[in-house]
Amino acid sequence: MSCTRLGLSLLLLAALGWTEDEHGSEHASHPKKKGPDHGHWSYADKAQWQLEYPYCGGQMQSPINIDTNSTIFSPELQPVVLAGCNLDPSEQLSLMNNGHTVVLQLPGSLTIAGGYPQEHRAMQLHLHWGSPAGPGSEHTVDGRRYDGEIHMVYYNPSYESIKEAMRQPGGLAVLAAFLQVGPEDNVHYQPLLEQLDEIQEEGKETAVAGFNIEGLLPTNLGRYYRYSGSLTTPPCYQTVNWTVFNQTVLLSKEQISLLETTLQGDDDKDLQNNFRLTQSLHGRKVLASFQAALSPRRVPLPGAGCPPCGDSENQLGLSLQTADVLAGLFGVLFAVTALAFLIYIHKQRSQNTRPDSHPKPNVIYTAATTDENAV
Ligand SMILES: [Zn+2]
Repeated sequence: MSCTRLGLSLLLLAALGWTEDEHGSEHASHPKKKGPDHGHWSYADKAQWQLEYPYCGGQMQSPINIDTNSTIFSPELQPVVLAGCNLDPSEQLSLMNNGHTVVLQLPGSLTIAGGYPQEHRAMQLHLHWGSPAGPGSEHTVDGRRYDGEIHMVYYNPSYESIKEAMRQPGGLAVLAAFLQVGPEDNVHYQPLLEQLDEIQEEGKETAVAGFNIEGLLPTNLGRYYRYSGSLTTPPCYQTVNWTVFNQTVLLSKEQISLLETTLQGDDDKDLQNNFRLTQSLHGRKVLASFQAALSPRRVPLPGAGCPPCGDSENQLGLSLQTADVLAGLFGVLFAVTALAFLIYIHKQRSQNTRPDSHPKPNVIYTAATTDENAV
């Protein structure tokens, strides 16, 4: 994959007069400065969001639980391809604690060049996490909540402005991946995590030297879920074309712990559990770029080609299906063998218990005679 750099940064957009959405959202805009116009919402009053932000009560809200058995395999979903991701260390990126999450601003030169019908330009990325007491991903899979979740936010440049894109269907694309405790430090996350202590308080900002942003995502960008949803924070615009990767990103327990315990949010409390609960699908379909369901259902698309043929994990998925078939065959063979053995044992016992049966000549043991016992 080529990671070419084009140079235009979101900071430049800001300098040219683009400002954040009036309500502020970590998904869609430049982080809020602490001040009188600070968004009043908090994770403590999630149930009240829709009173001030009507879209939050809509029928295409995010996050959702992904029920893998209900997903629909769509061979049309090609692997996600990123471009411009390997940022030069001379490029300074803003890292900020906006009171709801940690936000890293991304240059618009970073794009999604494949996996969506059109190119998207990067805006920012941020994280969601839980606390030492529990996990904090936003999406769940078959009811399972992961330790954390990264959201990489992009907009569709065919709209006149980012602000316009945020409000239009399909105007935003968010790449999401689950963070999970693994055996060792994830070096790709160090540029973010090692500077968290510089932005402990809400509103604090620091600069991070450019690094390879793609390292923050899973290595396999070919297996993912896709659905239409919303920002997971107010104003909850229902304009996000979501990608939730199947492969998780592993961080060490110490790194996850750093995320959970370093930042402070509203009222100087620990910034923890910054995730929204899963929302009802209201009939929406969740597509999968791979055969995630036990009994996969295909989208009937005319002229659909083969599934992602070069995808090693897809091949692994097929291998797992083959293994299931073999396991079934071996199970049947085992059952037949066991049955035959039992029949054999039964027949042997029947022969030995017949009143007129005689010991076979090759039987070594013979019962002692009365005479022998008398000696
Ligand atoms: Zn988010």
